[in-house]
Amino acid sequence: LLGGGIETQAITEFFGEFGSGKTQICFQLAVSVQLPKDKGGLEKNAIYIDTENTFRPDRIIQISEALELDPTKILDNIVVARAYNSDHQILMAEKAEDLIREKNIGVIIVDSLTSQFRSDYTGRGMLADRQQKLNRHMHGLQRLSDIYNLAVVVTNQVMTRPDFFFGDPTAPIGGHIVGHSATFRIYLRKSKGGKRVGRLIDSPNLPEGEAIFSIVKDGIRD
Ligand code: ATP
Ligand code: MG
Repeated sequence: LLGGGIETQAITEFFGEFGSGKTQICFQLAVSVQLPKDKGGLEKNAIYIDTENTFRPDRIIQISEALELDPTKILDNIVVARAYNSDHQILMAEKAEDLIREKNIGVIIVDSLTSQFRSDYTGRGMLADRQQKLNRHMHGLQRLSDIYNLAVVVTNQVMTRPDFFFGDPTAPIGGHIVGHSATFRIYLRKSKGGKRVGRLIDSPNLPEGEAIFSIVKDGIRD
């Protein structure tokens, strides 16, 4: 679906409703970035900006063991930072440069990109402010990905709209606040028998398409 994987020097956004697999994909990526190059990794490490307090070391251990990697080492190479509000989140991304160099970072994960912004900027009157701050945040992330040739992966929750019969059945909560500053956007949805479906939307170089996957103890699988 992604033509070989997550691209560096780009922002990839996974969006979908609760439980669609956004966080699980982030866990998988925080581990697989550390794989050798001949196994699809970058032999680099991860920064994980956790805004919803859903980072689970247990899952990292399970996913690492499934790949026969040393879980302690893998966990050590994931720098987890908790963002307490949207300004804090922006600041953390802006101050990440030293860390990126020191720790040889290959991916910055922001899970979730939007949740703190949603709670900090409520109501219609604050929408413009929120948009402006989010844009600044996205530009900051894009800049880091360009300079350090790393991947940026962000998540965004959306609500499904069962009343929608035509067109896009989902709408990001609070409108299209992320706009289209992400290079790759993948819409995740739950499907039959616990399967998940990822749909690539608006890619600059890849055709639209879908891929089916499962979330299992070992991580994300075909
Ligand atoms: P939210 O918007 O609430 O953050 P999300 O898209 O991040 O949701 P995830 O946390 O990625 O959702 O997915 C949660 C789902 O992952 C659970 O519903 C469960 O089906 C599955 N899951 C989590 N841990 C395991 C595991 N150890 N084994 C199998 N499936 C698991
Ligand atoms: Mg999540």
